Amino acid sequence: MHDMYPMLSVEEALTRFLSHFKPLEAERVPILEALGRVLVEDVVAEMDIPPLSNSAMDGYAVRCEDTEGARPDAPRRLRVVANLAAGYVLEEPIQPGTAVRIMTGAPVPPGTGAVIPFEEVERDGEEILVFKPYARNKNVRAAGEDVKAGQVVLTRGTVLRPQEIGMLAALGHTHVAVHRRPRVAILSTGDEVIDVADPWQPGKIRDANSYSNAAQVLKYGGVPIRLGIARDHIDDLTAKIRSGLEQGADLFLTSGGVSVGDFDVVKEVLAAEGEISFWRVRMKPGKPLAFGTIRGVPLLGLPGNPVSAMISFELFARPAILTMLGKTKLAKPTIDAILVDEIKRKDDRRHYLRVTLEERDGTLYAHLTGDQGSGILLSMVKADGLAIIPEDVNRLPAGSPVKVLMLDWPER
Ligand code: AMP
Ligand code: MG
Repeated sequence: MHDMYPMLSVEEALTRFLSHFKPLEAERVPILEALGRVLVEDVVAEMDIPPLSNSAMDGYAVRCEDTEGARPDAPRRLRVVANLAAGYVLEEPIQPGTAVRIMTGAPVPPGTGAVIPFEEVERDGEEILVFKPYARNKNVRAAGEDVKAGQVVLTRGTVLRPQEIGMLAALGHTHVAVHRRPRVAILSTGDEVIDVADPWQPGKIRDANSYSNAAQVLKYGGVPIRLGIARDHIDDLTAKIRSGLEQGADLFLTSGGVSVGDFDVVKEVLAAEGEISFWRVRMKPGKPLAFGTIRGVPLLGLPGNPVSAMISFELFARPAILTMLGKTKLAKPTIDAILVDEIKRKDDRRHYLRVTLEERDGTLYAHLTGDQGSGILLSMVKADGLAIIPEDVNRLPAGSPVKVLMLDWPER
């Protein structure tokens, strides 16, 4: 029965699967909602930032000419004629021999060329004593020193981080055009599967997958649409898939019902409503993988075991979501580590082993998180990453170098 379905490498399966995705259309959203999303247009500055030359210090704005020749033993006296807070402007040029008390961020008054910090002058009543000359623009931030009017500040394709969101605000944009988020419909299957809120009964297990997968969708920037649990019956599955279509799903994720023997329901529904390919992928966990389209909407059939469902999501659904968001860096980052445990195995699949990482003297050591069974969700709970054992490696002695695909980058 296996032979009916092609065995694909991870890369082959991924290439075939990802060929069905492209960036989704643009939408204008408030800038904070654009965090982590991809710009669809260049952003050009309409004005200088800062808009006006302004003080970089709290101090006194002076005419540079008035400070020429000042020395500790021959200070210049300047009369303080105004007090200027940030947010206010002095229109009138100041007269020779005068200074303006000025706060950081206040535009420097016309005629002044430098700001002297408080601590460098001596105050004497209405006057200050200046002890050295000040060059033009000393302690002054020039208009446009950050951004010039007309400059392309952000280019299309940029993934917006907090600093880009701040820049958009500085440039006066309340909204920005980004690719819309993909709507990912999530469906668990199985007569034995019940929702977390349902009372437990003998023979039943709680639905972990639609929650872990929905959380992964959220984590990578999609909008999860949880469609609940489909019984292993054609009518129920068909109705739930239709409901997902009505809710505008861009991608369907099902879990369960794809191991040989009981995938027929998913397969039959897909055959009736669309079309299906069924692949065996040369990986562990996650060998069985169904892929199809229903009315043009891609459907990824993940295995039912909770670890397999999560790892297949990381490898397949994640890059699909990123592609729809307009992102181009699709590979999860990997790091080099030393695998502490010995590995022996017989099959020729690529293994993804759950590991925790520990740093010692600048080297990262990977430790297996215990039982690696595909139903052992605790092995994921403990894991920082997935150690990749290549297809052609049957034995790895303890202490071998290994690549670890990072599930998370711990904040240090
Ligand atoms: P299946 O792929 O449907 O044969 O399921 C494989 C294993 O995963 C079975 O032991 C199922 O009971 C279990 N399983 C399937 N779906 C879920 C789910 N949503 N949450 C937790 N376990 C599941
Ligand atoms: Mg099942």
